[in-house]
Amino acid sequence: MTALPVSDTRGRSIRDLRISVTDRCNFRCVYCMPKEVVGPGYQFLPHAEILTFEQIVRLAKIFHGHGVQKIRLTGGEPLVRKDVEKLIAMLAAALPGVALTLTTNGSLLNAKAEALKAAGLTRITVSLDSLDDATFKAMNGAEFPVARVLEAIDAAAAAGLAPIKINAVVKRGVNDNQIVDMARYFKGSGNIVRFIEFMDVGTTNGWKMEHVVPSAEVVRAINEVFPCEPAHANYYGEVAKRWRYADGSGEFGVISSVTEAFCGSCTRARLSSDGMMYTCLFASKGYDLKSLLRGGKSDEEIRDAITSIWRSREDRYSEIRTTETARASKVEMSFIGG
Ligand code: SF4
Repeated sequence: MTALPVSDTRGRSIRDLRISVTDRCNFRCVYCMPKEVVGPGYQFLPHAEILTFEQIVRLAKIFHGHGVQKIRLTGGEPLVRKDVEKLIAMLAAALPGVALTLTTNGSLLNAKAEALKAAGLTRITVSLDSLDDATFKAMNGAEFPVARVLEAIDAAAAAGLAPIKINAVVKRGVNDNQIVDMARYFKGSGNIVRFIEFMDVGTTNGWKMEHVVPSAEVVRAINEVFPCEPAHANYYGEVAKRWRYADGSGEFGVISSVTEAFCGSCTRARLSSDGMMYTCLFASKGYDLKSLLRGGKSDEEIRDAITSIWRSREDRYSEIRTTETARASKVEMSFIGG
């Protein structure tokens, strides 16, 4: 099937595909899947509704034909999907040269790090919002201790997945007093902590602007203790802004969807575990690719469907965010991954 690079209405190509392999998670992070909303009786997608590994690989190959060079596996928590390393091996075999990455809460990583690396995983990102146990447990809603995530980060590094990226969502009044501690802990480790502005993803995390700690404030706090300077992006469309420590001991990043929108260079498409394509993290609707897959459509027909979806894409949510849009119905982040 011929490759068909495609651009949206703002000239943005599809370079990154984020694939949610499950809507389930063993954490209940307050900014993503609060337990008040996702409680014991919550109905997750039945297994029959989620894409099989073969269907995920087929779609990934079609997206690759559109120019995708990086695939990120997400969730929910991707490591709760049974045998996810088999999927990684299938993707690695089907798409040699495509970067295969994964974002995890680290809870199951210790036991799986070597298998993920052996399967062909290229890079991994671990979410860790605090080094303080009480704060972290309050934010992850699962009483999961910091020490076990730090062990998992070390296990991933030992398995050959370093440098590990660490994602820390910063919420004012919750963990904003721990920014410098996080920076200090990972400084000189070779791993890279990225501080993420609290976002109004979905409709369940009670987002308010006053809960946001602007990245400029994060950088100022770190720079006062560890002088740092801006570093160039690794590639076009990189989400995190890089800051290098002046003493040469590494770098950290900030992801500023609220105060420094980066929609202009957004090359990310998303796939939910039930086969819906979303063209923005803050989308209110998706496009059903699963019915095309299961309805006997050819790869060409599916490719053409993706082409017309992307060609009509206008998304720039972070540029137009207001308190009204923040309340509007949007897909839940736990459903499409960050
Ligand atoms: S808000 Fe949407 S369009 Fe903007 S960067 Fe995020 S995902 Fe891309």
